[in-house]
Amino acid sequence: MKTANEYIESLRSRKMEVYYMGERIEEPVDHPSFRPHINAAALTYECPPHDDESIALTTARSHLNGATINRFTHIHQSTEDLVSKVRLLRALGQHTGSCFQRCVGWDALNALYVVTYDMDAKLGTAYHGRLVDYVRYVQENDLMCTGAMTDPKGDRGLPPGKQPDADQFMHVVERSAMGITVRGAKLHQTGAVNSHEIIVMPTTELELSEADFALAFAIPADTPGLVYVFGRQTNDTRKGEGYLDQGNARFGIVGGEAMVVFEDVFVPWERVFMCGETAFAAPLVEIFASYHRQNYGGCKTGVADVLIGATALLADYQGVGRASHIRDKITEMVQLAEQLYCCSVACSVQGARTASGAYFVDPLLANVTKLNVTRNMYEIARLAQDIAGGLIGTLPSERDLYHPRVGPLMGKFFAARQGVSTEARYRVARLVENMTGGTALVEAMHGAGSPQAQKIMILRRANLPHKTRLAQRLAGLSEEINEVSR
Ligand code: SF4
Ligand code: FE
Repeated sequence: MKTANEYIESLRSRKMEVYYMGERIEEPVDHPSFRPHINAAALTYECPPHDDESIALTTARSHLNGATINRFTHIHQSTEDLVSKVRLLRALGQHTGSCFQRCVGWDALNALYVVTYDMDAKLGTAYHGRLVDYVRYVQENDLMCTGAMTDPKGDRGLPPGKQPDADQFMHVVERSAMGITVRGAKLHQTGAVNSHEIIVMPTTELELSEADFALAFAIPADTPGLVYVFGRQTNDTRKGEGYLDQGNARFGIVGGEAMVVFEDVFVPWERVFMCGETAFAAPLVEIFASYHRQNYGGCKTGVADVLIGATALLADYQGVGRASHIRDKITEMVQLAEQLYCCSVACSVQGARTASGAYFVDPLLANVTKLNVTRNMYEIARLAQDIAGGLIGTLPSERDLYHPRVGPLMGKFFAARQGVSTEARYRVARLVENMTGGTALVEAMHGAGSPQAQKIMILRRANLPHKTRLAQRLAGLSEEINEVSR
C-alpha cells in the first residue's frame, strides 16, 4: 500500500494537459489551487487514526488474493464491509472537513464488478474477467481512480442518439483489433487531475440504436488526448493570497472538480468493460449512483461534525455558548447530521449479495440518504450561519488583521470573550464561512446526482401498488379482509 507521501509523489511529472484560469498548469501538485484537494485525497492513503477502530476501517482483505489492501480499492464482501465504508468516510470527513474524492472510483469498481458479471451471464461477453484483472492491478498498485459518469448532455430534451452534436455524450468513433477510440467529455469530475486512473461509465439509459454510447472503460489519467479544465470555487483567489482567509487552507472546499475532454482517446480492449451493450447502461448507472449515494451520510456527516464543532466553538468564543437557544440549535444540527448517518448505515445493513459475490446497498434507502443530504446540509449550514452572526459575511482580510495601523483596531473591535484571542475567533469564523458558502452547498445538492435523479429512483423502487393494496385492505376494499371481518 502507498503512504500519503508516496501518493503525492506519484502524481508528479505526469505529462497532462491541465488548464486553470486561462493558463496551462505544468505541475498541479504544488499549485496552491490544486494542493488542498491533493492533501485531502492523500488522507485516503493514511487517515490519521482516532483509535484502533478507524485503523481497522482503512484496510481490507482482498477477496482476489487475500492481501491486505487499502479499503478504497476493495470489492465489498459483506454488509459489514458496506457499513465499514460509511464509517471510514465519516472518519475521513471529520479530518478534512471537505471531500476526499477517492470514493467515486471505488464505487465505479464495485458497480462494474456487479454489472460485468451480469452482462457476461446474460450475453456471453467476456468483460468480468478483464474487470477482475483491472481490480487486481488497482489493488496491487494502490491507485486512486476517478469515476467519470456525467456527460455534458447538450439539449436535455434529446437523447444521446438525437443530439445535433454527438460529442455531447461519450461515444466510440473507431473500433480496431487493438481497441477503441472514444470522443466526448465528462463534466464535474471530482479529483480527476489528482487521480491515477479514470473509469468511464455511461450517464443515462440507452436505446438499442445508441450502441456507440454504451461504453465503460478505464485509462490512465495521463493518456494522450485528455484535456483537463479545472473548475473555479467560491473564494478560490484566496488560495493565492494568504492562509486564514481560506478557512480550511489545508483541505479546501469540496473535491477540485474538472471538465475532462476526450479528444479521440485510444482504449485497449483489455480496459474496455462495456461496448455496445445498451441494455446494461441503465443498470450500471443505477448501481453506481446507489453506491455513491450511500456515501453521503458518511462523508457529509463527518463534514457536518466539523461544522457543528466550529459553530459551537464560535458561540463559546462569542460568550453565548451556554444560551439555551444556541444549545437548541446545536442540538438540531446534530439531529440533522445523525439522521443522514442513520440513512447511510441503514442502506448498508439492508444491502445484499449480488450474483457476482459483491455486496450492494439497498438502492431505495441509498437514494433517500442522498435526497436528505440535499436538504439537511442546507439546514445545518443555515443554523451555523444563524449562530455565527454576520461577521462571516463581512470580516475584513487577514492582511488587515496583521496591518500595523488597522490590525490593532480589528483586534479590539472583533474581540472575543476574555481569554480568547481575536485571531482564534477569526479563524473559526472563516472555517464556518468556508463550509457554509456557495461551492460547499452546491456539492451537497448536486454531487452524486441532482435531487430529481434520486426522486426518480425512489419512486421506481417505492412499490406503490403494494402500499395501495395495504390501504385497500384496511379500507375494506379487498376481498381478503372483507371475508375476515364478516
Ligand atoms: Fe467521497 Fe463524499 Fe467526496 Fe463523494 S462527496 S467523493 S462520497 S467524500
Ligand atoms: Fe461528491
